[in-house]
Amino acid sequence: MGKFGEIAGALLVALALVAPSFPQSLAPTALPAAAPLATQFNDPLQRGPLILDRGPGEQEVHFPRDEELEYLVSIDLGILGEPTVGRVAMTSVVRPFARPGDTEISFDEERSMEQALVSARARGEYQVYTLDETIQTRFQPVSFPQLKHESIQRGTENRRRELSLGLKDGVPTASYRNDGHCKTCKDDAHFVDPTFFWNDRSHCTGCKAAEHRIWKDPREREIPAKAVDMVTAVMLARTVVSQGKASATFTLVDRDRLWEVELSRGKRGRMKVSAGHYDVVEIVLKTRPPASETGREEDFQGLFGLHGNISIWMHPESGVPVLISGRIPAGPIELDVRIELDSARGTPPSFVKVIK
Ligand SMILES: [Zn+2]
Ligand SMILES: [Zn+2]
Repeated sequence: MGKFGEIAGALLVALALVAPSFPQSLAPTALPAAAPLATQFNDPLQRGPLILDRGPGEQEVHFPRDEELEYLVSIDLGILGEPTVGRVAMTSVVRPFARPGDTEISFDEERSMEQALVSARARGEYQVYTLDETIQTRFQPVSFPQLKHESIQRGTENRRRELSLGLKDGVPTASYRNDGHCKTCKDDAHFVDPTFFWNDRSHCTGCKAAEHRIWKDPREREIPAKAVDMVTAVMLARTVVSQGKASATFTLVDRDRLWEVELSRGKRGRMKVSAGHYDVVEIVLKTRPPASETGREEDFQGLFGLHGNISIWMHPESGVPVLISGRIPAGPIELDVRIELDSARGTPPSFVKVIK
């Protein structure tokens, strides 16, 4: 059963990654206070999205100013039914950007002085396994990190990851770090009582406690210019769809690995999800390692370890993700997972239900 729980958790995470959108609330520390100038930014729909310009010939990325999408995650267990195992909430907000020491006057109405925060929070439980994972990316008007991607998993397992992308001394760079269980230190809080009373207390040799985990050293590497993280990739896909384009290609950075991604519009249809009936278009994803990095172990699994058996359906005018479904290997069997839109707020005006 433990294995099954882990799989359910992995599913939620994978789905949250693939379906990007939004969290239920911003942590108070997530963004600089916007209060002094809040009125300038109070008209989100009129100002349009914040735009990440990736350069000539490259697909730009739109970040909604104040949007929240909620999804239900369920697993098809055949005759046992289709239990809802979790929820994914995705949000995108735009706020003024201030560097440390900036005064109020240094904010201006220029878009270059704004930042976007897109965050996806997946929460769920299956039997004894619980998961609360937040994946977020901040797009900032600075060279480095221009994109800062973070993943924080809480629950049965605890781990953190951080990826910074941007120009460092003029060189496109990715800096990645993750945490792990502390090996040996003097912190008494990391020590555990012995099994036998005549032994000394000793440093814990591995548990799932968040408090025992420390950051490992960051790994830095040069990357192709204009590479994006997983969350930004989702917003890029949405932008492609909302602009009516047929396809786009770009480089994705996942942890410290690169993937060439090609996405294109597939077939159109109409679907019923928890939020209602919607017109949809399938997003066809093709991923491969860059020519310079062949023979990697994970290449046999593919990005997300999903063997490519995943379908992403977006609303054809707005690019809002409506349904993501996939088949996930779970030991000897495969599970059908479904992530469907449950509610939406702050979406583009073009995002409308089909009236039945
Ligand atoms: Zn320690
Ligand atoms: Zn420990």
